[in-house]
Amino acid sequence: MKFTVLSLFPGIIDAYFANSIMARALDRGMVEYRSINIRDFALDKHRTCDDAPYGGGPGMLMLAEPLGRALEAAGAPRKIILPAGKKPAENPAENPREEKSRPRVLFPSPSGRPFTLAWARELKEERELILLCGRYEGVDQRIIDAYVDEELSVGDYVLSSGEVAALVVIDTVYRLLDRVIRPESLEEESFSGGLLEYPQYTRPEIFDTMQVPEVLITGHHENIRRWRLRKRVEKTLALRPELIDRGLQEGLFDAETLKLIEEGKNERDKIH
Ligand code: SAH
Repeated sequence: MKFTVLSLFPGIIDAYFANSIMARALDRGMVEYRSINIRDFALDKHRTCDDAPYGGGPGMLMLAEPLGRALEAAGAPRKIILPAGKKPAENPAENPREEKSRPRVLFPSPSGRPFTLAWARELKEERELILLCGRYEGVDQRIIDAYVDEELSVGDYVLSSGEVAALVVIDTVYRLLDRVIRPESLEEESFSGGLLEYPQYTRPEIFDTMQVPEVLITGHHENIRRWRLRKRVEKTLALRPELIDRGLQEGLFDAETLKLIEEGKNERDKIH
C-alpha cells in the first residue's frame, strides 16, 4: 500500500514515517510513502499558496492552482466534470473514476463523513491513498469537486491542520495491513465485534495498593476469556452504550455476549 501525502509542511508527516513501527513497515516494504510539498507547485516567485476568500470573511484559503498542479504531479485522477444536464458514461472504461487500480484521493475535513474502523478496513484494500492536507480555512471548493473522492472527518472538532488528521487515517489503516502487527492483536481490540477492549494489566502484581484481578493470575484460560468478555460488555455499556445498541441492530453478538449484555443492563438499571 502506498501513501502519498500533499502538504505545505511535509516535515510533519516525514517524521511520522521515520519512527517506530511505521519506519519498520517502510523498511520491510509493507508500505510505501511519498510526500509532496504543495509549495513547490506555486506559480509566483514568493511561492504563494493562499489568498483571501471570495465574498469576504476571515482567514485565508489554499489556492486552487498550486493544489491542482501538485495533485496532477501526484497522479491524482481528475474527475470528469460534465456540463449541466449531461449523463456520465455507462461504460466504466470511459469513466476513469471507476478504475480499480486508480489511487483514492481523500481530503480530511470537518465537513467529511466520520472516519471509523469499518472505513479504515475498506481503505486498506486500496493500492494507493492520496491525502490532501488542508491549512488555514481550508481549500478552494473547485479542488474538492475536481479531484477529491471523499472528505473525511476525524471528529466533531476543528484542528488547525490536515496533517494531524491525515496521520490519524494513515496510522489507523497501515496497522491493519498484513504483517505490520500480529493478527491476534487486531481480534479483540476496541470496536472489533461491536465492543470496547477489556482492561489490561502487566507487572507488578501489586502496584501501590492495587492488586491485579485474581482471575488473570490463575492461568485458567476459559475463566480468563469469560472475565474479559464480561469486562468488555460492562465497559461498553458504561462508556459507549450506543455501540451496544448498534451491535444489537446489526446482529453482531453471539448468545454468550447477549446474555452478558442483558445482565449488565439489569445491573445498571438496579443502580440507577
Ligand atoms: N474552515 C474550516 C476548518 C479549517 S481547519 C471549517 O470550518 O470547516 C484547517 C484544515 O484542518 C482543514 O482544511 C482540514 O484539512 C483539517 N481539519 C480540521 N479539522 C478536521 C477534522 N475534524 N477532521 C479532518 N480534518 C480536519
